[in-house]
Amino acid sequence: MTALVKAKPEPGLWMESRPVPEIGPDDVLIRVKKTGICGTDIHIWNWDAWAERTVPVGLVTGHEFAGEIVDVGRNVTDLRIGQRCSGEGHLIGHHSRQSRSGKFHLDPETRGIGVNEQGAFAHYLRLPAFNVVPLPDEIDDEIGAILDPLGNAVHTALSFDLVGEDVLITGAGPIGIMAAAVARHVGARHVVITDVNPARLELAAKVADCTPVNVAQEDLKDVIARLKLAQGFDVGMEMSGNQQALDQMVENLVMGGRIALLGIPPGKSPVDWSRIVFKAITIKGVYGREIFETWYKMIAMLTNGLDIRPVITHRFKVAEFREGFETMRSGLSGKVVLDWT
Ligand code: NAD
Ligand code: ZN
Repeated sequence: MTALVKAKPEPGLWMESRPVPEIGPDDVLIRVKKTGICGTDIHIWNWDAWAERTVPVGLVTGHEFAGEIVDVGRNVTDLRIGQRCSGEGHLIGHHSRQSRSGKFHLDPETRGIGVNEQGAFAHYLRLPAFNVVPLPDEIDDEIGAILDPLGNAVHTALSFDLVGEDVLITGAGPIGIMAAAVARHVGARHVVITDVNPARLELAAKVADCTPVNVAQEDLKDVIARLKLAQGFDVGMEMSGNQQALDQMVENLVMGGRIALLGIPPGKSPVDWSRIVFKAITIKGVYGREIFETWYKMIAMLTNGLDIRPVITHRFKVAEFREGFETMRSGLSGKVVLDWT
């Protein structure tokens, strides 16, 4: 089979021929149809310090996928050949206290496909049957291929009650934009999304009914006045990993405001803790997706009117993967999907 491999410890990915993975008794074999390129894949392509530390050379990359089950292990009774699916890319252990109490997404032994384990940028993917998420007919393969990042957005957005709340999202990357669509879908009042990249803000306004704000040009205090918010935003979702964005969020939240942090800062970053204390702000770190509650909720929303398709701005055949990665690296795109069929 063909796969996109981190074949050398230097920037790039290489298309190589690999044997089709062998499955164990509790696994399934998936024929991959569509895959999404993630910011994580860009780190791996660039071979930055994190990637060098984390990713073994020789790894098949990729973790955002949709496909079809073509083989099942002998213990697998609830999935069948021919079934369309996506799947959770976090492979968890089943021994920790967290796992044994059903909080699978908090298992400390979690390993990621396409990061620590063989990934989905290949014609075939082996996955534990436990991780498979069957897709209903209403969700096609390209949407199926971006459920992983949509899941990040949904996990973050559902961290706090948003009904009737004024919401601030910092960072209009694909995940921030999808979070804006989710916040609107579940009944937020005002949804404001910030960025410093006009292309991303333009896309945000196309995908979600939200107020885009370029914080390089406009002060959030003016936006609060314009929208006639009494004190500021009730809930913040940090989706940029940028220090200034987090500072602005804390500054413009109401007393008792709540923040869900998904964005990953590049290193240690200073926080004005006394501001957080005196504003009585609650902060929650968000990692991955809740397994499998986030998957349940997002599929329910997608089959009930949530439309995030316009966040996919580019589609390429896998042979054109270099263009796909260049497009993603430009910072001007939304999601980029590769076609393996
Ligand atoms: P992305 O890099 O595509 O988007 C981030 C956006 O933030 C960019 O559009 C950038 O222009 C914008 N930005 C930069 N400075 C800003 C500022 N001062 N104010 C507002 N916006 C600013 O990222 P993405 O793929 O959408 O992911 C969002 C974040 O979530 C990233 O930090 C990513 O690493 C992180 N992430 C975390 C998890 C997790 O499990 N916690 C999972 C996936 C992604
Ligand atoms: Zn991803």
